[in-house]
Amino acid sequence: MKLNFISLLFCTFCFVFSAQAQNKTQRFIAVTIDDLPVVSTRGDLKTRQEITKKLLAHVTKAKVPAVGFVNENKLYAGDKPDEAEINLLRSWLDANLELGNHTFSHRSLNNIDLEDFIKDISRGEIITKKLMTEKKRTLRFFRHPYLQTGLNLKTKDGLNKFLFENGYTIAPVTIDNADWIFARAFDNAFDKKDKNLMKRIGAAYVPYLEAKMDYWERQSIKLFNREIKQILLLHANFINSDYFGDIAKMLEKRGYQFITLEEALKDESYKLPDTFNKRAGISWLHRWALAKGMETILPDEPKTPDFVMKAAGVDSE
Ligand SMILES: [Zn+2]
Repeated sequence: MKLNFISLLFCTFCFVFSAQAQNKTQRFIAVTIDDLPVVSTRGDLKTRQEITKKLLAHVTKAKVPAVGFVNENKLYAGDKPDEAEINLLRSWLDANLELGNHTFSHRSLNNIDLEDFIKDISRGEIITKKLMTEKKRTLRFFRHPYLQTGLNLKTKDGLNKFLFENGYTIAPVTIDNADWIFARAFDNAFDKKDKNLMKRIGAAYVPYLEAKMDYWERQSIKLFNREIKQILLLHANFINSDYFGDIAKMLEKRGYQFITLEEALKDESYKLPDTFNKRAGISWLHRWALAKGMETILPDEPKTPDFVMKAAGVDSE
């Protein structure tokens, strides 16, 4: 009798638990991290090693199959390869993460000729390709610097042709945000030894990203009547090396499962063309929305708080 009562209690618990699990929206997200090995005002090797180590510890702990996008100009001391910097990339591969091409010198396609841009892509793959081949992996993803994708369709088509012929797939971004402004503010506060300001910036950072998640989820529903598999853009910076663990927890709480970029791109939405040819580097959700008409863009996109903008020394997002 007693056993039956316990069984009943257990089953009731199971039922409530599984019902709760079912109520939770199942969401999917791929995490991409740009400007590898490290982007920070703190340029010394020890700090760069520390940032890499801490960031990778968070990524590994949360089991996030992230892709890191590399700027190879950071891998040279003068014109010689810098083994210490290259070792930072090796630690990404050792953590079983994938690397992609983010051009050699992070110049915008909107500011240089297509021919020069393509040279910058080719120059930006030499070391990464070698490291990935050693791990029996193929270099296959490309991310535009500043998400700036060309000011006319001829340039976009020319680039698409080059990427296709060279085995690259464009890595779009849907969860666009200003982590780079928070990062600059955080770096500046560190440089000024202003610990209180660092704490304030950190405390505002994850709630800001959560507000962005909510915005892009709603924008996705507005466009597709469903939440697509999202692609988040963050950077390999100091603030993320401190806060990525909290970001991952926030995403899990919202019902997100971490997936690879390859898996995210299987979502039908990514088959839509990107015909956007203005200067701004914007989310693919906004590119698709603009193609449908301005009225499909939700007006309430969260802004970076003023004190963070000020601490970063940035006038506009
Ligand atoms: Zn970048």
